[in-house]
Amino acid sequence: MTTANERKDKVLLIYTGGTIGMVQDESGALQPFAMERIYDALPLLHRTDYMIDSCQLERIIDSSNMTPEFWVSIANIIEAQYDKYDGFVVLHGTDTMAYTASALSFMFKNLSKPIVLTGSQLPLGMLRSDGRENIICALEIASGRQVLIPEVTVFFESHLYRGNRSTKVSAENFDAFSSFNYPSLAKAGIKISYKEHLFLPMPEGELRVRKGFDRRIAVLKLFPGITPAVVQSVVRTPDLQGLIIETFGSGNAPTEKWFIDALQEALDKGVIVLNVTQCKAGAVQMRQYQASCDMDRIGVIGGHDITIEAAVTKMMYLLGNFPEDKDKIRDRLGKSLRGEISLETSGESDDY
Ligand code: ASP
Repeated sequence: MTTANERKDKVLLIYTGGTIGMVQDESGALQPFAMERIYDALPLLHRTDYMIDSCQLERIIDSSNMTPEFWVSIANIIEAQYDKYDGFVVLHGTDTMAYTASALSFMFKNLSKPIVLTGSQLPLGMLRSDGRENIICALEIASGRQVLIPEVTVFFESHLYRGNRSTKVSAENFDAFSSFNYPSLAKAGIKISYKEHLFLPMPEGELRVRKGFDRRIAVLKLFPGITPAVVQSVVRTPDLQGLIIETFGSGNAPTEKWFIDALQEALDKGVIVLNVTQCKAGAVQMRQYQASCDMDRIGVIGGHDITIEAAVTKMMYLLGNFPEDKDKIRDRLGKSLRGEISLETSGESDDY
């Protein structure tokens, strides 16, 4: 870990990999490199009026290789250093940043300090890189000098999003992230304007970090013409614990018997089935159309306006930490734990 001089506000910068810290090898392919290069590429970092320490994961990765084990490694660093810093910036590849942000939001209950994830579309060393702006703004937000945001967030191209509402929308534009069902929490212009009324409230309880993730889940994306063989092969995955169906519109799916029978088969085996819409904006509303009534009747849970990234990580998190509590898991999937859906939260004293 590199340490700067002692000053008042302190931010820990955690590098995990991704384009922001990549260089080209001889063949022209992008490869991750070591943390020190971030300072080579961004000597301006030494001029901030808060203190920045930095560290990196033992193995830095393209975020396409992200797994729950890496989420736990990031959480371990933050948990171990929690009292020492005012905030945390996680430099992360853009491809799965929304998953990591969502996972961290569930892991850190009663978070009272900012954790800001950012990255870039162009490597930091390139002249037109968007990484410079993103890192500097993310650090300023994480320092809490102006406003304290007790949330896991994603900063990208002028906008700060709630992490578990964010989604990557462009493989090309600098404006690569969006949050369709919740407004951005801040916007960086000449100054950073914060929308404090949109933040999660400052928690009253003690920080609690849970690190269980059950990977035995599947996502089944529906499309017109999907065959029984495909649906059954997913439903019959050995040892499946959770199934997310990506449905059409407001949560609609084929009404054919073979489809409902396949879901019933999963439910009978104790698999928890969650209905998440393929639409970027808007929510699942079970029973709005005939095409979701049978799913509602047999016990499929409506995911409301959750993103697929938050749905995957929330399902893994709940199954991984409360495996004995299937009824409560079903109940919590339909409610907000960390502001990930636009419905009532599960309650102040709730342990989830
Ligand atoms: N493949 C890279 C990653 O997600 C892309 C990026 O960083 O933007 O790690």
